[in-house]
Amino acid sequence: MSALREDSRPRHGTQQGDESHMAQILVTGGAGFIGSHLVDRLLERGDNVIVLDNFFTGRRQNLQAHFGNPRFEIVRADVTSSVLLEVEQIFHLACPASPVHYQHNPIKTVKTNVIGTLNMLGLAKRVGARFLLASTSEVYGDPQQHPQREDYWGNVNPIGPRSCYDEGKRVAETLTVNYRDAHDLDVRIVRIFNTYGPRMLFDDGRVVSNFIHQALQSVPLTIFGEGNQTRSFCYVSDLVDGLLRMMAKEDFSGPVNLGNPEEYSMKQLAQLVVELTGSSSKIEHRPLPADDPTRRKPDITLAQKELGWNPQIEVREGLRRTIEDFRQRMGSK
Ligand code: NAD
Ligand code: UDP
Repeated sequence: MSALREDSRPRHGTQQGDESHMAQILVTGGAGFIGSHLVDRLLERGDNVIVLDNFFTGRRQNLQAHFGNPRFEIVRADVTSSVLLEVEQIFHLACPASPVHYQHNPIKTVKTNVIGTLNMLGLAKRVGARFLLASTSEVYGDPQQHPQREDYWGNVNPIGPRSCYDEGKRVAETLTVNYRDAHDLDVRIVRIFNTYGPRMLFDDGRVVSNFIHQALQSVPLTIFGEGNQTRSFCYVSDLVDGLLRMMAKEDFSGPVNLGNPEEYSMKQLAQLVVELTGSSSKIEHRPLPADDPTRRKPDITLAQKELGWNPQIEVREGLRRTIEDFRQRMGSK
């Protein structure tokens, strides 16, 4: 074990609500949608937070409430380059999440997931930090098991348009457990299912943001294919709560599913968004993208048992809040 690691033996401190120790925490991808909500919560409970982000899909506005806070710093950097920062915990979220964004430059997406994760694991090893990987339900691909449990190995096309992301995350998981086993690194893996909420980008191509943006502009909602494919939607505050619980949990590296099992077909989701916005928008069908998973729903038994975690915000309520946020931001564009 290196001297540096010995000296800076981590004080992971902080079970939820325990503010006796202000942890030094790195959030990669902290300017993005989920990352910025996580940063809000960490600062709110008294931690020191460094955000590392290259602003590919993240925005400074997401964090502007914290500018001037002495416990908050932003480092503009790319996870594919190594960095040295003295931290006790690393939430590793850096990676575009929307298919439109991660397919924009697939090679870069692979690099972000593989080299970026290697770099952050290397940092965790060097400074003795606890490391949490934001993995994804996409590791299950187009699942043949429903709902998906953590012991399902998945059904992923290694050479399809989504593979830069799916396979990238699968390698990221592999690296994470390899570092745990080879270097005794303290790691956690969470598999995040579709998450939505305030601050999603209007043009990010994800279904919730597309539908709300379209409904509020009274243009047709674009359903890809027949709209019978399903997803299960988790509100962002619930997801962040799960991430915090997982980081605080002792002796459990996962992987663990975090998602809301409320399952909707895209047809049902479109109807719900039209209803909640009171929009006059019609439905328009577009071709189904290649390798689009047919259905997806998490089995969250493990998260319930190990983390005592259950989503609190029903989809209707979460959509209401998200619609309100979109209304405000679209009004102020
Ligand atoms: P997002 O695109 O809003 O945020 C990603 C952030 O990472 C952005 O701030 C972006 O600028 C930054 N980033 C991207 N590449 C980077 C790089 N090479 N170096 C430094 N920063 C980089 O996405 P999100 O929805 O907030 O997702 C966050 C994490 O959660 C991602 O790892 C994603 O794979 C995972 N996830 C999200 C969902 C979801 O539904 N939102 C589902 C499953 C997994
Ligand atoms: N989708 C859709 N219309 C849109 C955007 C997406 O019907 O305008 C569909 C997409 O084909 C997929 C589902 O909604 O079946 C969820 O897509 P998203 O990109 O949000 O997430 P992911 O496919 O990564 O789960």
